[in-house]
Amino acid sequence: MAPITPQPGIMEIALYQGGQSHVEGVSDVLKLSSNENPFGPSPKAKQAIAEAVAEVHRYPNTDHAPLRAAIGEVHGLDPERIICGVGSDEVLQFLCQAYAGPGDEVVHTEHGFAMYPILAHAVGATPVVARERERVTDVDALLAACTERTKLVFIANPNNPTGTMIGGNEIARLADGLPEGAILVLDGAYAEFVEGYDGGVSLVDARDNVFMTRTFSKLYGLGGLRIGWGYGPKEIIDVLSRIRQPFNLSEIQMAAAIAAVRDRDYAEFCRAENTRMRAWLARELAALGVPSDTSLANFVLARFADVAEAEAVDMHLKSRGVIVRRVASYGLPNCLRITVGDEAGCQRVVDGIRSFQEARR
Ligand SMILES: *Cc1c(COP(=O)(O)O)cnc(C)c1O
Repeated sequence: MAPITPQPGIMEIALYQGGQSHVEGVSDVLKLSSNENPFGPSPKAKQAIAEAVAEVHRYPNTDHAPLRAAIGEVHGLDPERIICGVGSDEVLQFLCQAYAGPGDEVVHTEHGFAMYPILAHAVGATPVVARERERVTDVDALLAACTERTKLVFIANPNNPTGTMIGGNEIARLADGLPEGAILVLDGAYAEFVEGYDGGVSLVDARDNVFMTRTFSKLYGLGGLRIGWGYGPKEIIDVLSRIRQPFNLSEIQMAAAIAAVRDRDYAEFCRAENTRMRAWLARELAALGVPSDTSLANFVLARFADVAEAEAVDMHLKSRGVIVRRVASYGLPNCLRITVGDEAGCQRVVDGIRSFQEARR
């Protein structure tokens, strides 16, 4: 009898490690390990969730039309070219399922998001890593990593966990140079934190091989509800729609997302506070001798002298109830990724690192 075996690739997957949220024996915990919005969702989104509860015995609508219309209206996009998923992670999964399989390659950057290789392996495809230049996406390295087997190229812009981003001309050059049959996926999880950046919309509109994803998990503070979306050529949307489960999003999720995306004042407040506190945090860290690259996202990647120091700082912060993210699994063992908190939260991080340094003297 043949043994029970999973599909090719599945056993290559290293389980995703989420950001830690508890510290043994510490009650006043500040979680800065998952790039969550310190202010939570818009009050209007919370209200919409409360109101949607009354109808949970009903199946949700399957085409997400009201949500797609709201997103389309706010971002000036054709709702027919939007697809919604259980987090943008699900949209990335649709792309892998629909376009990659055994023998195909999925290219991502050296310090790219951990979900890219997981999703590639899940469909039996081979993840291929393109090196970065000083923690910045390198278009030449990405193009060099492409072959006729390349089906998808994932870049997050700004990237997680580096916080760096590349300009529109560079992205266009990448799209121009891709092999035929490959799709460039612009993961815009942090695009909304960048003032005046369209997340790649103009490039998606100009080409037939570029797709963009966005999420309600970061700027909109709805990570716990799992809502994301993608925007791309109609042909790709038609393909992805065939594998999307008809009831992947609940009415609660959709109602929250509609209220959140329509609350522009709240989104603008969150973006402005993030920009302000990110600059403050980076400046204070630099004053303590801790460098970081210029971040365009809602976190800062702090670089320490070596792995031992990064680990010691992490432990020290944890002992004070401050949880940040070790990023050794992203190839950055001497770094800590610190989500930009509110003012008090950022102050706690800086005080914690200062007290670490004082204790060492
Ligand atoms: C957080 C994040 C996502 C978003 O995930 P959701 O599934 O929408 O919560 C996608 N890509 C990157 C790079 C991220 O950091």
